[in-house]
Amino acid sequence: MHQESLTPPSADRFRRSVLMVIITVSVLGTLSGWYIMGVRGLLSPVLHAVQAVTLVVLLALFLAAWLELLPQRFLELSCLVYAAAICVVCMALRMYLPRYGAAIDLEPLYLWIPMVYVFAFMLTNHKTGLVVSSGIFGLFLCVSLPYLVQHIDGPYANFTVQLHVVSAALIATLYFFSSYQQRLRLVQVKADQLAHLSNTDELTKLPNRRHMASVIDGELARVAAGRGGFALMLFDIDHFKAINDRFGHRAGDGALVGLAACATEVFRGVGALARWGGDEFMALVRDLGSADAERVADALCAQVAASSRPGGQSITISCGVTVAIRSDSIDSLLQRADAALYAAKRAGRDRAESLLETQAG
Ligand code: GH3
Ligand code: MG
Repeated sequence: MHQESLTPPSADRFRRSVLMVIITVSVLGTLSGWYIMGVRGLLSPVLHAVQAVTLVVLLALFLAAWLELLPQRFLELSCLVYAAAICVVCMALRMYLPRYGAAIDLEPLYLWIPMVYVFAFMLTNHKTGLVVSSGIFGLFLCVSLPYLVQHIDGPYANFTVQLHVVSAALIATLYFFSSYQQRLRLVQVKADQLAHLSNTDELTKLPNRRHMASVIDGELARVAAGRGGFALMLFDIDHFKAINDRFGHRAGDGALVGLAACATEVFRGVGALARWGGDEFMALVRDLGSADAERVADALCAQVAASSRPGGQSITISCGVTVAIRSDSIDSLLQRADAALYAAKRAGRDRAESLLETQAG
């Protein structure tokens, strides 16, 4: 259990790598900005301090990401909050302490603020995205409002008001798209569940007839294109009605589940298995000749007869085997498998019989 929580899943590892690249780019941006402002002689001691703190925090975040010291989600949100904080500090310096913040250009800084909102929604769900971005938006509003009230004709007033209007519209749009995406995801999950249910037999949890029919269709197309062949085995419990009558329907259900488990073991990694309906099951094995298919079917019959089940009743099965040919349709193939099964029943049950196209014709 511990091991699991220490090993991040691959999606987390990918996000971690992306975050490290973003932090590296930010470090390079900070260093170049620091250097250019220094060359132009614009750096006040406060700006030196801001740049130095920025570098230290960025390097700490990089190390935390690299050494996997913090949970990924926490790390991402820390970067986001930190980016917002830097923007707020620069805005405050430029508006209220121009002596120290004269070198800061607010216009390019404002271009980054919408990115913070976009990342807030990208990194979280629509609800958390709304809370985080509204919080950051409120912070910008609180910092800039006194300036706007006092300097409505000041150099940054118009641009700042526009920024707030655009930010509010952007947050609303992002919330709309994010919640829409969330709903789409839920619909997709439901659709996947429904698709699974419609292809699965409720009792045995094996694929059902609908699923197997589509598998056979696909395999027949492969055979028709000359890209291999397959064998089909249709098997059915012997005297199953008697089991139901003697031991009850519930015990009958148990027998079906037991047979499904036994056949799953036999065909695991070998072929496709399905409950065809009632007490009939079907298995499809690719690239298997008739002789090998008969051997597998005999082994299946022996395995079922030998397996003991709770309650003590033993069951046997009869199995019809056939091999697909290029001119087969699903109907002709199933007809042969059915006829082979019928032959096995007539021959005394608890056995496999095969019927090939040449014999059927
Ligand atoms: P045979 O050896 O010729 O196959 O004889 P049989 O008695 O097995 O005859 P058949 O295969 O026709 O009988 C199938 C029976 O399976 C009929 C039906 O009552 C029973 N059955 C079908 N579905 C279920 C199920 O989900 N649960 C249970 N308990 N019985 C089922
Ligand atoms: Mg039967």
